[in-house]
Amino acid sequence: MPLTTPTPSGSASTGTPSSEPVLEIRGLRVEYLTTPPVLACADIDLTVHRGEILGIAGESGSGKSTLITALTRLQRPPAATTAGELVYHRDGTATDLLTLDDRQMRRLRWTRIAVVLQSAMDALNPVMRLRAQFGDVLREHRPGIGRDEADERIAELLGMVGIPAGRARAYPHELSGGMRQRASIALALACEPELVIMDEPTTAVDVIMQRRIMGQILRLRRRIGFAVVIVTHDLSLLLETADRIAVMYAGRIVETAEAATLYHRPRHPYTRGLKASFPPLHAPVEVLHGIPGSPPDLTRLPEGCAFHPRCPHVFDRCRTERPELEHAVACHLDDTTRESR
Ligand code: SF4
Repeated sequence: MPLTTPTPSGSASTGTPSSEPVLEIRGLRVEYLTTPPVLACADIDLTVHRGEILGIAGESGSGKSTLITALTRLQRPPAATTAGELVYHRDGTATDLLTLDDRQMRRLRWTRIAVVLQSAMDALNPVMRLRAQFGDVLREHRPGIGRDEADERIAELLGMVGIPAGRARAYPHELSGGMRQRASIALALACEPELVIMDEPTTAVDVIMQRRIMGQILRLRRRIGFAVVIVTHDLSLLLETADRIAVMYAGRIVETAEAATLYHRPRHPYTRGLKASFPPLHAPVEVLHGIPGSPPDLTRLPEGCAFHPRCPHVFDRCRTERPELEHAVACHLDDTTRESR
């Protein structure tokens, strides 16, 4: 349902991030409604701008995939969004996605907001040739599209992700893992969405294929101008591809920054640990240091800062008081440094 009537037209067609929002996540809270309920994501505030690549990083269990299923309204019980707004901007109107019924939301998915899931096989029907699957999606959203026009469009879509048009006759199992993943990306782009939401889109493929896929996503973004929200545990991949990054831990955002800022000056100890855990894509591999310990069980979060049992800089206040996200970082250490400046 339209909320307001803001926003001038943006620069999406150039693929350059604009200051115009396409999706605003306001105070989002997701809970598993078990007994007792478990807080999976809390106080999530993020804005995705047209043409921007926003990365969301964190280990498994950080809440990033839960956030993605909430954004796309693909969550299943017991998970439920219990507070907040997902304000989607289009043609000068703003709509809270949480107020749409299932039919309205289904229509928006694919046409405007596309989703690429972790496993390409989830998106592709194993018993249908690619041509039939792409044809179904194109016909659903452009009823009346002729066979020749659909074939041309399918060849174009596959070509965009480096798959020869002849492979349209293949079944998914006849393609390599990397090709399946690229085909699922092409399928997501079939209706020229404004926002593409990707959950670990490159985990199932090797590092070289990861770079190829991400390179293709960047080229397509420049050409088509969609915004991307991409979730991955691999911070180094985001540092090289995203415009902005939000780092999540224990269901909360602990730091947000431009990718270049996060690369040169990560402020949160967890961000620094995550950065040191992955080899950089374009620099010599130095010694990697994993973060000691493991992410907390959401049903039994530590008091104070949820990262404190693993933090090399922990001090007394961290054990009792949870740091709020202030000035784009949630860490008492940052408060102390700021106060002493
Ligand atoms: Fe470490 Fe304390 Fe900062 Fe948490 S608040 S990250 S424990 S220094």
